[in-house]
Amino acid sequence: MKTSYDVLVVGGGPSGAIAAKTAVEAGLSTLLVEKRPAIGAPVRCAEGVGKELLHQFFPDPDPKWIAAEIDKAHIISPDGHLLTLSPQHAGAEVGYCLDRKIFDRELVWQASNAGADVMVKTRACAPIMKDGAVCGAKLEQNGTVTNVSARITIAADGVESKFSRWCGIDTTVPLREIETGAQYLMTNLNIDNHATEFYVGNKVAPGGYVWVFPKGNGAANVGIGVAGDKTSPGAHAIHYLNKFINQKFPDGKKIELVAGGVSICQPLDCTVADGLLIAGDAARVSDPLTGGGIYNGMYTGKLAAEVATKAIAADDVSKAGLMPYDEQWRVSYMGKAIARNYIIKEMFISMTDDELDSVVHSASEIVMEEFNTLQLMKSLIKSNPALALKFGKTAVKNLIDAI
Ligand SMILES: Cc1cc2nc3c(=O)[nH]c(=O)nc-3n(C[C@H](O)[C@H](O)[C@H](O)COP(=O)(O)OP(=O)(O)OC[C@H]3O[C@@H](n4cnc5c(N)ncnc54)[C@H](O)[C@@H]3O)c2cc1C
Repeated sequence: MKTSYDVLVVGGGPSGAIAAKTAVEAGLSTLLVEKRPAIGAPVRCAEGVGKELLHQFFPDPDPKWIAAEIDKAHIISPDGHLLTLSPQHAGAEVGYCLDRKIFDRELVWQASNAGADVMVKTRACAPIMKDGAVCGAKLEQNGTVTNVSARITIAADGVESKFSRWCGIDTTVPLREIETGAQYLMTNLNIDNHATEFYVGNKVAPGGYVWVFPKGNGAANVGIGVAGDKTSPGAHAIHYLNKFINQKFPDGKKIELVAGGVSICQPLDCTVADGLLIAGDAARVSDPLTGGGIYNGMYTGKLAAEVATKAIAADDVSKAGLMPYDEQWRVSYMGKAIARNYIIKEMFISMTDDELDSVVHSASEIVMEEFNTLQLMKSLIKSNPALALKFGKTAVKNLIDAI
């Protein structure tokens, strides 16, 4: 087994796979390690991704990655009012519903075909540190631990990330900013196979929402995210989801069940350290409003590998040498969307059902062609002055500045 690389990538999700592929294509010797025995399973995801966003990486995506194409999103208010949005207006998760078992595996295959070494059922169990810098990791496979050194380590180990914490970085997520999720893959549903549905309201999903993401032929991911501090005592995400399904899809069949957490917090204060770059969910760059992180993971994974390539060429893998990564994603389209959506999320989770009704009603009066976040804010404030008062001038100004 080779024990020295330019780049070690921890985690075989979308962030890690794209990071490994980008690094190896730039000529760096690269190892990707994944603790699970198989890439892409179990799928803890509703699998939605924006078309244009996926096309940034794959202009012509392989049809077998795509379970369904989505041409509209329905948002359903607590009083049942329907707001229909085009994919461009519905956020980064609407456009395609992927088959991530295939997609994630294919991304790692691509990295492997490009020349990266890949080890599954291999867990990074501790960083190797020298003078405060990360110089690789201890890798455990089938009970055997091997030291692997690397000029740069990319921590892409997902929402439950531990690697960065072991390197001394504070990765704590406040309890109120962890959404607990549960999702069934369901069949036998009477749904529009090309429309996603989002149900909001404190009775249906306190501090979160229920989603229905079609996968073709009457199948869909039907899931829920709820805020732990808003649910009734003893009630878990799965209770709310089962209640919703019993009412909405009494004839639906549950084929798979997954549970998982999503962070809806701000990104880490700093996503680099000496010898270390942190990407994807591990950097807390999933969208705080929707919880979506496939695109954000791929974006940060690619950027991390590009900055790693330059830093190794310049022989400077210090925190300062890697800082362009942190600076660049924060000013990117993705970074700005996170900043804006964090403010919107804070407003969203504090709304009563009457306020949510009012917001959905006002939004549905905006002409689709003119629909954007700024228009939405203007319309909301005009028709719901009480909301502007509730959130306060500063929050509204911060949001308008962030748009
Ligand atoms: C219920 C649910 C629904 C979601 N729906 C959507 C959606 O519709 N659209 C969307 O864009 N996003 C969605 N997300 C979020 C999305 O799944 C993540 O943002 C995305 O997978 C992040 O990619 P990643 O590569 O950063 O992390 P992950 O995909 O989590 O990959 C991290 C990998 O690292 C591995 N790993 C962890 N620790 C170690 C270690 N020590 N050593 C080796 N390997 C390790 C893990 O096993 C994992 O495979 C959803 C999330 C949940 C929970």
